[in-house]
Amino acid sequence: MNPMAEITATLADAGTYARDLKKRTNGRTVGYVCSYTPEELILAAGAHPLRLLGTQQAIHRADAHLQTYCCSLVRGILEEALSGNMDFLDGMVFPHTCDSIQRLSDIWRLNIPFGFHADVVLPVKLTTASARDYMADVLRKFRGDLEKSLSVTITDEALREAIDLTNSIRAALRRLYELRAANPGRISGSDIHRIVRASMIMDRRRFLALLEEFLAEASGKDAPAAAKPPHRLILSGGVCNAPDVYGMIADAGGAVVWDDLCTGGRAFEEPIPAGGDPIERMADRLVKRAVCPAKHGGLTNRADHLVSLVKEKDARGIIFLLLKFCDPHAFDYPYLKAALDREDVPSLLMEVEDPLPPEGQLRTRIEAFLEML
Ligand code: SF4
Ligand code: SF4
Repeated sequence: MNPMAEITATLADAGTYARDLKKRTNGRTVGYVCSYTPEELILAAGAHPLRLLGTQQAIHRADAHLQTYCCSLVRGILEEALSGNMDFLDGMVFPHTCDSIQRLSDIWRLNIPFGFHADVVLPVKLTTASARDYMADVLRKFRGDLEKSLSVTITDEALREAIDLTNSIRAALRRLYELRAANPGRISGSDIHRIVRASMIMDRRRFLALLEEFLAEASGKDAPAAAKPPHRLILSGGVCNAPDVYGMIADAGGAVVWDDLCTGGRAFEEPIPAGGDPIERMADRLVKRAVCPAKHGGLTNRADHLVSLVKEKDARGIIFLLLKFCDPHAFDYPYLKAALDREDVPSLLMEVEDPLPPEGQLRTRIEAFLEML
C-alpha cells in the first residue's frame, strides 16, 4: 500500500485502527481533545496518544448532557463515547482551554465509565513572568498522574526519546507544508489535511515512516502544469475536520498554502528546544507556540501571526473556518478581521459545523470570494 492509501484507510475507520493497534501492541490508548495536550508524556508512559476529532454521525445522545449551543466538536466527541464507539480508550486527557472542553471533562468523568481521567490545568495567560514555571509544574503533575494511573515510571530518557520523535514529526510536517507552499500543484490540500489528521491518530513511528516516504515521492515529482496559478490562501480557525473544504477551494481556483488551525500549523510549528531538562523544554514550547484564542499570548499576538503568515507565504487572502458556537474563535474574529483590513488582506468568514452544511452554500461563497480576489 502506498503511504497515502494507508493514511486514507486509517482515517476512514479510526476506531477499527485504534482497536487493531491496541491488540497488536498490547498497549494502552489515551484520548485527548486539544493540541495543548503534552503528548510526549503519554508516549513516554508507553501509551498511544489519540486525538478525538468529533463525529460524522447525527448527534442526539450528547444532547442529554450538552446544550445544542456547544460546538459540534465537543458534542460529537461525547456522542461517540456515549454510543460505545470508544471502547479502545484507557483514559482521557482534558487540557484546561475553552469552557466547552472543561464542561466535556466534567460530563465525561460522570458518564463515561472507563479508564483514568486527567485535567491538565495549563496557565491561560502565557505572557506573565511565572507562566513558564507554572507550565512546567503542571507538566510535572501530569507526569505523576500518568505514572500513578498507568502504573509506570516515566524516565527522563523515555521522555527525551518521545520529544525526539514528536520533533521529527513536526519537522517533517513543516517540510510537507513548505513543499506545498512552494508549488501547490504538487500535493493536494485534501492530502495535506489527511496527513495532519493522521499525525494525531496513527502510531507515531509508523506515521513518520509513511510521511518520509510520501515526502521523498512528492519532492521528486513535477507539478502538473496549471492553466492559471491558483489564488494562494491561508485557512484560520480551530479544528478542521472537513477535507471537502480543501477540494471546494481547489475547484474554485484557490490553494491553501498554509494554515492557522489546531489540526494544522498550530500543532506542529515551534519544535521543543534542544538540551536540558525535558519538562522545562516542553514548557518552553507550550508557552511559545502559536497561540489559540483559548489562551492569552498578548493583545495582538494572533493578528500579528496571521499577518506575518500572509506576507511570508505570499498569500492573497484568508478564509476563517469558524465552528458554529465556538466562542473563543468567534470573540477573536472581529479584531483579527480589523487587523487584516488595515493591511488590505481580504478575508472570508465561513461558519461550519460537523457534519458540514449543504455543500452548495459553501461552494458559492468560496467562488464569490475567489472571484473578488
Ligand atoms: S482551538 Fe485551542 S482550545 Fe480549541 S482545540 Fe484547538 S488548541 Fe484546543
Ligand atoms: S476551542 Fe472552539 S471548537 Fe475548540 S472545543 Fe472549544 S469551543 Fe469547540
